[in-house]
Amino acid sequence: MKKILAIFILLSTGISQAQSSIPSNYFKNPLDIDLVLAGYFGELRSNHFHSGFDIKTQQRQGINVIAAGDGYISRINISNYGYGKALYIQHPNGYTTVYGHLKKFSPEIEAYIKKLQYAKESYEIEVFPEAKDLALNQGDLIAYSGNTGGSGGPHLHFEIRDGQQRPMNPALFGIDIKDTQAPIINSLYVYPLGEEAQVNGSAQRQRLKLTPLNDGSFKAEEIDACGEIGFGISTFDRQDGAPNQNGIYKIETKLNGDKVFEIKMDKFSFAETRHINQLIDYEYYSSNNSRITKLYRGSNNPLSIYEEVVNNGTLDIKDSLDYMFNISVADFKGNIKMIRIPIKGKQSHIKNPKNIKKTDYFVQANEAFSTENGPIDVYIPKSSLYEDTYLDIEFKGDTIYLDEDNIPIQNYITIGFDVSKYNAEDQDKMFIAKLNKRGRPTYSSTKKKANRFTTGVRNFGTYTLASDKNAPSIYPVNFKDGQWISSNKDISLKISDDLSGINSFRATVNGKWILMEYEYKNNTITHDFSDDVVTETENILKVIVTDNVGNSKTYEATFFRK
Ligand SMILES: [Zn+2]
Repeated sequence: MKKILAIFILLSTGISQAQSSIPSNYFKNPLDIDLVLAGYFGELRSNHFHSGFDIKTQQRQGINVIAAGDGYISRINISNYGYGKALYIQHPNGYTTVYGHLKKFSPEIEAYIKKLQYAKESYEIEVFPEAKDLALNQGDLIAYSGNTGGSGGPHLHFEIRDGQQRPMNPALFGIDIKDTQAPIINSLYVYPLGEEAQVNGSAQRQRLKLTPLNDGSFKAEEIDACGEIGFGISTFDRQDGAPNQNGIYKIETKLNGDKVFEIKMDKFSFAETRHINQLIDYEYYSSNNSRITKLYRGSNNPLSIYEEVVNNGTLDIKDSLDYMFNISVADFKGNIKMIRIPIKGKQSHIKNPKNIKKTDYFVQANEAFSTENGPIDVYIPKSSLYEDTYLDIEFKGDTIYLDEDNIPIQNYITIGFDVSKYNAEDQDKMFIAKLNKRGRPTYSSTKKKANRFTTGVRNFGTYTLASDKNAPSIYPVNFKDGQWISSNKDISLKISDDLSGINSFRATVNGKWILMEYEYKNNTITHDFSDDVVTETENILKVIVTDNVGNSKTYEATFFRK
């Protein structure tokens, strides 16, 4: 395993990576089963673009995950959320591959990280091993696939990143996914954008009717339009072997045969990923839970996925002229779905003007904004919003209605509460909560300092003060107090908290810290006896769980093993 180390050191000096020379046969399938995708690169997700391939694992866990290329483990990250248990391999060619939601690492890596978890006394851990620690060859077993972290079902999340840690489309490297079907179009929308712009006598977003043609393409209903307009599309791609609705690779538009706009999912950076909320129609998404990709680009939009853009992708439609607008949606294999949209330039009276709500709170995107009322204050830093926006804000006692979550926020805004009217004991149990649609409070990470609570948020909505006086609860799952459990492979407990949520837990046996793996999706913590730290016959287990305001609960039980 370590023989490639010398070669690696030789190669790792002076490597430069030209975009034009993406190695096409360097990496291989990270699983020893056929590649079937549950998610594509660049797919539209909540506040981010999907940064890799989600590879299906036959609805089960425990499939062998192998190194896609030679290299060494350069990072191990174990997190309750996100990628769960994740491995990063640094390759001698300068790229990094990432493997997420793993169930378990290979024995060598497992031993390496457990030692560090025991030293740190923490399940969550992040380490950056050196090249000499865990070197490996292409095809070596590195882990078993799982469902850890923010995963909705067993799969492997696989990424390839460049030297600047920018995720790239694995298909560019020859990771081959069978795909014989063209993308599918759900719906098409037109947006009058300019001040005087209109479509069919309206200045509002409109859905256009699509008629399928014999050649597999669509024709949209002809529209009358005038002024600056843009289009939006709801679309997905389906690869072979699975029904999953995955992201598309490329969208291109043409006006009267000339290219206007192109989006291509080759590469992006994590710094720009939240700007996805500028690519989609966020207002539509917040009310319909479905995403329209806008085929034009707003003014403060730094996304790098736009390949070619003329007039930001918008069209300037003149009275008395005819236009043909074409949209083509393509997958990586070049299967294409086309839409043709005939446009007649026609100035007419606007019957449905734009709905612009005007309020007392006008926030300019490129200036900071603050306001306060009673015990509550709000600070919106410059560039938190993408556009100048009228906000609907209402204050009522300890509650602020801070508009609705249909306006995207890029950078954290701060909400502060003066809590001096509460005594110290009450303050101890209090936190800032966001009220969900049904009025239920959810914990918003709260900083407390001298009669003042603050929270940073990236969603509009209703925020208030809430109080949590109840400690978390802890129940044993596969044992009882006083029981002999010699044949148990592990010991597990359910932990939960009714309001502010679990902040931390700590488990010991006979006073010694034991590693318990936390799975938030089923509220379970589990200790694996193969760690060999439980060696006595009589064992006193003690578990302490603390919630986000500091209420804690202690559970104690005795078990026996031989
Ligand atoms: Zn994924």
